[in-house]
Amino acid sequence: MSLIVQKFGGTSVGSVDRIEQVAAKVAKFRDAGHDIVVVVSAMSGETNRLIGLAKEIQEQPTPRELDVLVSTGEQVTIALLCMALHKRGYAAKSYTGAQVSIVTDDSFNKARIKEIDGANIRADLDRGVIVVVAGFQGVDESGNITTLGRGGSDTTGVALAAALKADECQIYTDVDGVYTTDPRVVETARRLDKITFEEMLEMASLGSKVLQIRSVEFAGKYNVPLRVLHSFQDGPGTLITLEDNSAMENPAISGIAFNRDEAKLTIVGVPDTPGVAYQILGPIGDANVEVDVIVQNVAQDNTTDFTFTVHRNDLAKAEAILRDTAKKLGAREVKTDAKICKVSLVGVGMRSHAGIASQMFKTLAEVAINIQMITTSEIKISVVIDEKYMELAVRALHTAFGLDQPAAK
Ligand code: ADP
Ligand code: ASP
Ligand code: MG
Repeated sequence: MSLIVQKFGGTSVGSVDRIEQVAAKVAKFRDAGHDIVVVVSAMSGETNRLIGLAKEIQEQPTPRELDVLVSTGEQVTIALLCMALHKRGYAAKSYTGAQVSIVTDDSFNKARIKEIDGANIRADLDRGVIVVVAGFQGVDESGNITTLGRGGSDTTGVALAAALKADECQIYTDVDGVYTTDPRVVETARRLDKITFEEMLEMASLGSKVLQIRSVEFAGKYNVPLRVLHSFQDGPGTLITLEDNSAMENPAISGIAFNRDEAKLTIVGVPDTPGVAYQILGPIGDANVEVDVIVQNVAQDNTTDFTFTVHRNDLAKAEAILRDTAKKLGAREVKTDAKICKVSLVGVGMRSHAGIASQMFKTLAEVAINIQMITTSEIKISVVIDEKYMELAVRALHTAFGLDQPAAK
C-alpha cells in the first residue's frame, strides 16, 4: 500500500460530468488499497473569468483581494469532488490551503510555499479518508489567503507529495504526457517516456506550461517521483527522472519550448563607458522587473545599442524607466517591440553534441526567419524572433532535429 498524490487540472474537472469521472478514477486507486491525496484546480476557464471580473473594476486589481477572489475557484471543485466521492460510498474530506495548512510568504499572486503542516491530513489518511486539497492557494503567516501563480496547483501537488513523503505524485491533465513540444502546435510532436528534471525545468521556464516551473523545482529538490498522465486515458505518461541520459547515443535535443510572453526594449546610441549596463539595468531591477535575454553591441562611434527582454506585462513599466535612463545618459532613442517570441531547444544531450547552434541557425535561415537575439546555456539555446514566425520556426526545428513522430503506416 502506498501514498499517492494525484493532481487534476482545470479541464479534467471542467464540468460536473468530468468531476464524476475523476471521482470514479480516484475510487479505483482507493480500491486498490492506496492512500490518496487529491489536489484539484478550478474548473477550466474559471480563474480567467474571475480575473476578468476583477479587471472590470480595477485595471491592476489589489493583489490581496485578487487572491481572495481567484482562490474561490478551487474551493468549488474540492467540495464537488468530495460530494462525488461520498455518493460513491467513499469517505472523503476537502481542505482549503489554509485548512491544511500550506504556509506561504506574503507575495500575493505569486507566493512561495514555506511550510506545510499536514498533521491533520495524515490523521485523515490514517482513518482511511481520501483527502481532497485545493490547489494554487495557501495562507501567509498573518492568515491572508495567497495564491501561487498561474498553474500553481501543480506546485501544491508536488509540495504536498514532498511534505507527506508520498510514493509518487501524478499530474493528470488533458495530454498523455510531456511531449517534444506542445502537441497543440505541432501535430507530429512525440510523447517522451521520460525526461530529466533538469530538462523539464528548462522546458517549463522557457514556456512549456504543462508543468508549473516551481513544481519541477520542488520535485527535483525533494526527489519526488513525478509523472504526467492523461486524466481519462490509460497509458504510461511521462516520468520526470533524476537519471542523466546525456550519453552519446541519446538525442542532442529532447524538446522545443516557446513563449510569447516577452517584449523587447532597445536603447540606441548610449555612450559606451564602464558601468553602462548597470546604469541601464539597475533601475529596471530596482523596479522588480525581471530581465531575460540581453544583447549589447559596440558601435563605431563609441556608443552602444543595448537590447533586452522583459515579461510583456512589465513592458510599460520598463519602457518608462528606460526613457528616463535614456535622458540621463544622453542616448539617442528608445525602441520597443512586443511582437516577439522566444524559441528554445532543450536537451542534456547538448553537452556531448557539437554543432547544435549552427544547425539551429541553418534551419531558421532555410525558412528565411531572421534571428534578433540569441542566448545559450549548457543545455539550451534560445533565439528571439518575430512572433508571426513562431509556429513555422518550431515546426522546422522539430523536423530538423529528428523529433517528428514516425509517419503512421
Ligand atoms: P492543466 O489544466 O491540467 O494544468 P495545462 O493547460 O496547464 O493543463 O497544461 C497542459 C497543456 O500544456 C497541454 O494541453 C498542452 O497544450 C500544453 N503543453 C505545452 N507544452 C507541452 C509539452 N511539451 N508537452 C505536453 N503538453 C504541453
Ligand atoms: N486555477 C489556477 C490557474 O488557472 C491554478 C491551476 O490551474 O493550476 O492558473
Ligand atoms: Mg496547468
